Amino acid sequence: MSSRIVIIGGGQAGGWAAKTLRDEGFDGEICIVAEEVWDFYERPPLSKAALLDAEPQLPRLFTQDAQQALNLRWFRPRRAEAIVRDEKVVMLDNGEKLAYDQLLLATGGRARLPGNDWRAHPQVYTLRHWDDATRLKQRLAESQRLAVVGGGWIGLEIAASARKSGVDVVLFEQQSALCQRSVNAAVSEELLALHREQGVDVRCGCGALELSDNHGRPEIHCDGQRETFDAVVVGIGVELNLELARAAGLKVDRAIVVDGQGRTSDPAIFAAGDVAQHLRYGLSVQSWAFAQNQAVATAKAMIDPTAPAYDEAAWLWSDQYHHNIQILGVPQSGSRTVVRREPRSTLFFSLGEDGQLTQLVAFNDARTVKLAKRWMASGRDLSGVPLTDPDFSLMSLR
Ligand code: NAP
Repeated sequence: MSSRIVIIGGGQAGGWAAKTLRDEGFDGEICIVAEEVWDFYERPPLSKAALLDAEPQLPRLFTQDAQQALNLRWFRPRRAEAIVRDEKVVMLDNGEKLAYDQLLLATGGRARLPGNDWRAHPQVYTLRHWDDATRLKQRLAESQRLAVVGGGWIGLEIAASARKSGVDVVLFEQQSALCQRSVNAAVSEELLALHREQGVDVRCGCGALELSDNHGRPEIHCDGQRETFDAVVVGIGVELNLELARAAGLKVDRAIVVDGQGRTSDPAIFAAGDVAQHLRYGLSVQSWAFAQNQAVATAKAMIDPTAPAYDEAAWLWSDQYHHNIQILGVPQSGSRTVVRREPRSTLFFSLGEDGQLTQLVAFNDARTVKLAKRWMASGRDLSGVPLTDPDFSLMSLR
C-alpha cells in the first residue's frame, strides 16, 4: 500500500476521495493541496441557501469532527504549480516539493467571463466559491436590478434566488434556448415559461454582449441598446483546470482521459470530478453526483486495483422556485422526446431508435427518476409503453 497520497483540489471530489481512502482503511499520509482556506464544502447551496438564508453557514461536506478524524495534512491556501512525474513530486507555489506515491487530480474548474474587462468591474460577479456567494448575497441585498449573463444552470438558479429576494432580473443567453447543451428543445421551452412566469425578462439569442461602466454601475450593451444594472452575475460555463495535467504530459481530451477506475495515462496519477472525462460520454460531466461517486470509485481503486469501475449515467438536479428538476442522461441526437403532464409533475422522456431511454428530465418527480436509472442501466425497451398517458402507472413497470 502506498505511504503517501497527494490530492490536488479541496472540493467535493477531493473531499470524497480523502474520506473514502480512510473508510477503506488507507493508513498512510493524505496530503491535500487546496487554493481555498475552507474545509471541504458542497457547491449546490451557493446559488440557493447561501444567497437566501438570513445567516448562511458554510455547507460543509463533513462535520468538523468527521473531517478531523480523517487526519489530513493540508497545504492551503496553496497552488500546485507543476507535477514532475519522473520524480513523483508536486511543486507548490511556495517552492516546496511534495513527494507522492499516488496522486489524485481533483482540480475542478474556474468560472468563465466574456472578456478580461468584465473581471475588472467591481459589480460583475461569478459564483464558484463560498466567498463569491458571500459577496453576491451582500450585493443582492442592495440591488433592485440584476443582469444574469448565461442561461445555464447557474444562471437559472441565481435568477430564481434573485426573484425570491424581490430583485428584478434580466437574463441574457447567447443561444436561442436555455440550457441548450444539457436538455432538448421541449425542456428549454418549459424552463423559459417557468422563468417568465416568475417575472424574469429572458432574452435568448442575445449574441455577444459588451460591458461598460455608468458611474460605478455595470452597463450591458445588447443589440445596440444599453441597460444599467446594480450588478451582473455571469454564469457562462467553466474553464477546466487542466493546465497541470497537460504540462505533465497526461492524456487530455475534453477533460483528463481516465479509465473506469479514474486512472490517467500515468498509472500513479488519477483524476476525479469535473476534470475527469466521463468514460461513457467522453465529456466533463460537471455535476454533484459525478464529483462524489466517481471520486469514491477512484479512491477505492487507488488502494485496490480490483475495485469496480465507475459507470453511472449522468444525473443532476436543480431547485428553482418551488420546482425540483432532475436530469438523467445527456441529450443524444436521433432521440425523440415525449411529454407526460400530471397535475404536480411533468416528465420529458427521450428515447433512442431502439426504444431505450437516453434522457429523462423530471419536474417534481424524483420517484420516476429512480426507476428510470434502472431502465437505463438495464437497457429496457420502452417503445411500446404508453409513457404519456397519465392514467398509466409508471410504477407498474418496476
Ligand atoms: P452552463 O450550464 O454550461 O451554461 C452556460 C450557458 O451560458 C450556456 O447556455 C452558454 O451557451 C451560455 N453562454 C456562453 N457564453 C455566453 C455569453 N457570452 N453570453 C451569454 N450566454 C453565454 O454553465 P453554468 O451555468 O455557468 O454552470 C457551470 C457548471 O456548473 C456547468 O457545468 C453546470 O452544469 C454546473 N452547475 C450545475 C448545477 C446543478 O447541477 N444544479 C448548478 C449550477 C452549475 P453555449 O452553450 O453557447 O456556451
